[in-house]
Amino acid sequence: MDSKQLSKRLATIAKYVPNGCRLLDVGSDHAYLPAYLAIHHVIQHGIASEVAKGPYTNMVNEIKSTGLEKMLTPRLANGLHAITLSDHVNVITISGMGGELIKDILDQGQAKLANHPLLILQPNVDAYILRKWLMMHHYQLIHETIVDDHHEIYEIMVAKWTTQSFKYNHQQLFFGPFLLKQKSPVFIKKWHDERRHLEFVIKQMNRSSKPPLKRIKAIQHRCQLIKEVL
Ligand code: SAM
Repeated sequence: MDSKQLSKRLATIAKYVPNGCRLLDVGSDHAYLPAYLAIHHVIQHGIASEVAKGPYTNMVNEIKSTGLEKMLTPRLANGLHAITLSDHVNVITISGMGGELIKDILDQGQAKLANHPLLILQPNVDAYILRKWLMMHHYQLIHETIVDDHHEIYEIMVAKWTTQSFKYNHQQLFFGPFLLKQKSPVFIKKWHDERRHLEFVIKQMNRSSKPPLKRIKAIQHRCQLIKEVL
């Protein structure tokens, strides 16, 4: 994989980036996503940001080797502190991290969201936490998709700021309102596997001399939620 040939996961994220936008890609690592979007003239300008020096150097090298210095700016910074409002960023992508970390990045950078950029997010885990944050901050989901990339399953969500009130119930937060409606084969596989895994965990816990009853009950509740949807 490189900026000319993205993985299925990154290519799916790229499809949701609107033409002509000014992008910030947080935690860009090799900058493959913004470089691909610049090569294909999807973005007007991109900022690729990294908190860690190693990935930042990778990013700088990728931008140089692809000759994209005019279209892409690398920045070494933590989360949304990579931008100021004068950058006029109107789309932010954050992918390949846990939902909790993505939520923290959004939370700690709220001042940078004052112009309400479109958010395109791909949490590796804990999508529930992220959907809840989006709902609490007037970001409504407008697209969701789930992809199988070499047997790893990823959820991708696109959220737009709105003044209209809306609410997701527990089931929608857990499974994703659009994913729940679509119930694609990948979605079924993800939750079928998750249920089997949780049932295994319960079995193991019950075998211990002192089963953690509270924890078992919480996992059973999760299993029940999944059962109702499949
Ligand atoms: N976004 C790329 C992708 O989806 O393939 C790279 C994902 S990589 C697993 C996660 C990257 O996020 C790492 O390079 C890490 O240094 C960076 N990162 C983690 N926390 C960050 C933060 N608060 N601000 C900026 N970058 C961060």
